[in-house]
Amino acid sequence: MNFTDLNIIPPIMKAVTQAGYTKATEIQYQTIPHILNGNDVIGCAQTGTGKTASFAIPVLQLLDKNPAEKKGIRTLILTPTRELAIQISENFKTYGTFLNLKHLAIFGGVPQGKQIAALDRGVDILIATPGRLLDLIGQGCIKLSQIEILVLDEADRMLDMGFVNDVKKILTKVPAKRQTLFFSATMPQEIRKFAQSILNNPKEINV
Ligand code: AMP
Repeated sequence: MNFTDLNIIPPIMKAVTQAGYTKATEIQYQTIPHILNGNDVIGCAQTGTGKTASFAIPVLQLLDKNPAEKKGIRTLILTPTRELAIQISENFKTYGTFLNLKHLAIFGGVPQGKQIAALDRGVDILIATPGRLLDLIGQGCIKLSQIEILVLDEADRMLDMGFVNDVKKILTKVPAKRQTLFFSATMPQEIRKFAQSILNNPKEINV
């Protein structure tokens, strides 16, 4: 399906075209309309399917269309590794190039100073690994009370890597009234149960 059939706003379409993409991948054309509609989504998709754009594009569009009520981080994306955090951040840079939304990736293994300074300058979309996020929440550098959209990326890997308690702790700090997007390469019973416990009447997409 062409991107032009997905009701994407002109500044994002321009960025998509500039990136050289004309056809949406299967996960993108199945997922983007549900996200734009405000639904919770479970997406079962491997890396390489274009799954990052399938949430980055509609998240940008929703935030752009609905101005913030208060200052604060509006979207949180949890991902298991630094490499994925950087890749997701690059996607937001690509598709958000003509919008006025700020994104930031934070992850462990590097000093905190630059990340804290960037947080102080204001962030709309925060991409984070669970450990560093909790660390900076503990230091009072991050508040999640204004989150409108929560994305769990590679949820199966996140749980396999032992982040389950961290993720549960983070979930207690995010408003219950939110849109939640849950992506996982595999969907064993325990992951499905976990997804069901945090999602509200989700649309399920398998590619
Ligand atoms: P991902 O599954 O998000 O890791 O994306 C895998 C690769 O597909 C990345 O290099 C993207 O830049 C690329 N990609 C994403 N969407 C499209 C698209 N609609 N057409 C072609 N390539 C894409």
